Amino acid sequence: MSAAAFVLAINLFVAGIFATAFGVVAAYQRSSVGARWLACAYGFGALYMVLEFILPYQQDHRPVSFGIFAVFLLSLAGGVVGLAHHYRLRPPYRVLIGLIALSLLLNLAILDWPRASFERNLLYQLPYALVQGVGIAIVLSHRQRRALDIALLALFVVSALHFLIKPVMALTIGSGAAPQLYLGSNYAAYSQTLSALLLITNGLLLLLVIVRDVLAEMTARSETDTLSKLLNRRGFEDRGDRALTQAARAGVPTVVVVADLDHFKAINDTYGHAAGDGVIAAFAGVLRDCAPPQSVLARPGGEEFAVLLPGANLATGKLFAETVRNAFRNLPSDLTGLETPPTASFGVAQLMPFDHLPDLLRRADTALYQAKTDGRDCVRLASAEPAPVVGAGRRRRSVR
Ligand code: GH3
Ligand code: MG
Ligand code: MG
Repeated sequence: MSAAAFVLAINLFVAGIFATAFGVVAAYQRSSVGARWLACAYGFGALYMVLEFILPYQQDHRPVSFGIFAVFLLSLAGGVVGLAHHYRLRPPYRVLIGLIALSLLLNLAILDWPRASFERNLLYQLPYALVQGVGIAIVLSHRQRRALDIALLALFVVSALHFLIKPVMALTIGSGAAPQLYLGSNYAAYSQTLSALLLITNGLLLLLVIVRDVLAEMTARSETDTLSKLLNRRGFEDRGDRALTQAARAGVPTVVVVADLDHFKAINDTYGHAAGDGVIAAFAGVLRDCAPPQSVLARPGGEEFAVLLPGANLATGKLFAETVRNAFRNLPSDLTGLETPPTASFGVAQLMPFDHLPDLLRRADTALYQAKTDGRDCVRLASAEPAPVVGAGRRRRSVR
C-alpha cells in the first residue's frame, strides 16, 4: 500500500466519523437542517475516497475520474450549504448550481488533456477553490463573527488557496503518468496528507460551531417564558445579576421595577384563562415598547413582572413605571378583549451599596405591596432601608 493510499484510508475513516457525528446531531436536533447537509457532505467525502480506491482498477478511467471530481465538488458544496443553513442564511443555491454545472462541463472537456498540462490542473482545481470562496462569502455575511467563525473563515481561505497551489505542486512533484497511477505518486501523498489536516480541522470547527450555537439556543430557551417571550425567573436571576455587576463596575445607579396585574383572578374568572393569557402577553408587549434597550425584562411567574433598569435612579424608575401603567390601562379593548381596561400596580427600588438582586427585589416587592394596599393602579417607591427577609414580617416595610 502506497503512503497516499494509507492516508486516504485514514481520510475515509475520518470522513465517516464526521458524517456520523453530524448525522447524530441532526437526529437529536431535528430542526438542524445544517447538520443534515453537513452529514451528507461528509458522506459524499467518504464516497469520493472510495472512488479513489477503485480508480487504479479501471481500464477506462474516465467514468470514475469524472465521478471523483463530481462527488468531491458536491461534498464541498454540501458543506457550504450546510453552513449557510446553520447560520440561518439563504444558501446561494443558484450560484452553486450554476458553478457545479459549469464545472462538470469543464471537467468533461479537460478529461483527456495531458496530465502534465498546467492549464488542465488549474482548471481541475479552480471549481473547488471557487466553492470555498462561496464559503468565505457565507461566513462574511453572517452578522455574528466570534472566534470560531473567524477560525472557520481562515480555514476556508487556506483551503481555497491550497486548491490553487495544487496545480503547481502536481507539476513540480508529478501526479503519475496516468490517472490509475495517481495513488502511487508523491503528489498524491502530499495532497492526501493536506486533505487530512483540512478535513479534520474543518469537521471539528463545524462541530464546535454547531455545539456552541445549540447550547446557546438551549440556554436561551430554558431562560425564556413562552407566553410573554420575556425572561423567566431563572433568566432574570442570571441576567439581572450580570447587569447589576456591570452597573456596579461602571458606577451607575440601577433600579428594579416590579409589577403585578390587578384583580387578575377576576379577569380569569370572568373572561376565561385564555383571555387572561392574552392580557399577560399584552402587558409584556407594553413593557417591551416602553423599556430602554439595556433593560432586563422578566415575567418571574404568574401575573408578576420585573424590570431591571441599569443607569436609572428612583425618579427615572418611577417615570418608567408610570409610563407603563398609563400605556397598559389605555390599551384598546380589542387588544385586551376586556370590557374594562386592565390595570397594574408597581413597586420601584434603587440599588443600595452592598445590595444583591434578592435585596433589591425584596424592597421593590414591599413597595408593590404598598401600591396594592393604596388601592392598586399606582406606583410606589421603596425606602432606602433594607427590607426584612421573607418570613420576618415581609411586606410590612414603610414605603414612600
Ligand atoms: P391582586 O390585585 O391583589 O394582585 O389580585 P389578583 O387577583 O391579581 O391576584 P391573585 O394572586 O389572587 O391571583 C392571581 C391569579 O393569576 C391566580 C392565577 O390563577 C392567575 N395566573 C397565574 N399565572 C397565570 C397564567 O399564566 N395565565 C393565566 N391566565 N392566569 C394565571
Ligand atoms: Mg395580581
Ligand atoms: Mg400576583
